[in-house]
Amino acid sequence: MTRSTDDLNAELLARHPYRNAVRAGRPDTIVLVGEHRVPIGGTHVAMIAGPCAVEGRETLLETAHALSGMGVQMLRGGAFKPRTSPHSFQGLGEEGLQLLAEAREATGMAIVTEVLTPEDVPLVARYADVLQVGTRNMANYRLLEALGAQDKPVLLKRGMAATIEELLCAAEYVLAGGNPNVILCERGIRSFEPMVRNAFDLNVIPLLDQLTHLPVIVDPSHAAGRADLVHAVTMGAVAAGAHGFIIEAHENPLAAIVDGSQTLDMEAMQRLITGVDAIAAATGRQLDRTIRTVAA
Ligand code: PEP
Ligand code: MN
Repeated sequence: MTRSTDDLNAELLARHPYRNAVRAGRPDTIVLVGEHRVPIGGTHVAMIAGPCAVEGRETLLETAHALSGMGVQMLRGGAFKPRTSPHSFQGLGEEGLQLLAEAREATGMAIVTEVLTPEDVPLVARYADVLQVGTRNMANYRLLEALGAQDKPVLLKRGMAATIEELLCAAEYVLAGGNPNVILCERGIRSFEPMVRNAFDLNVIPLLDQLTHLPVIVDPSHAAGRADLVHAVTMGAVAAGAHGFIIEAHENPLAAIVDGSQTLDMEAMQRLITGVDAIAAATGRQLDRTIRTVAA
């Protein structure tokens, strides 16, 4: 008996290496973040901003209040930092998570923060609204399995030398584990060029739109590694269809302990939001902004 095309397609899909992540005609996944269910995906353009690392109560709260006043709904900040040198600041750990939770309480912002090990997943998930997997951990399969076994959304950054298929297979670990809420992030890949930190790969945005139903955001801060390039890279990425961006922003970048030279101040952040607003509208999408009543 001859098999129908539908049967053959179903068989192929069942054997596909990233069978849950693959587009296969599926509609865009929209990941809903935190208590206020901030949407990432579809026609939404989402903003995540904040310092590279949680450094202390005062700077974090000041930065969070300023960003939330501009309508930024999600706050980033590392409590566990994967540093190249073991002698560099490693983050405040659980104290940093508590400060992030305090910032959420004060502003209503959802919290995005990195988790480094499978053992830390329950701790970080207790405080965070989105668990971030950094570029160095994209292929840490035990970590991805642990994230698949819990229900908080996962922000999965592309490995600095990972192919697009490897990124999608990494996402597949989380999806196959039972967690459908994965957000992909292009943050630049290694190249021979020393003037920028990484080579931002704009190709992946339209390509991933074909290959997967998952939302794709960008991190121009870690791609460029220089604050003066972040605005243009973000605008280009949103024009190409990115579902949002994660930006390093600080009330005083010169004083930032980590990544200050690629971090935007609040004026630059406001200019960025104004620019992205126009690009999102010009491409038939919407930059989501909620101006909240901020607790004193
Ligand atoms: C970060 O966003 O804090 C970070 C360390 O980024 P990446 O993993 O992309 O280097
Ligand atoms: Mn950083």
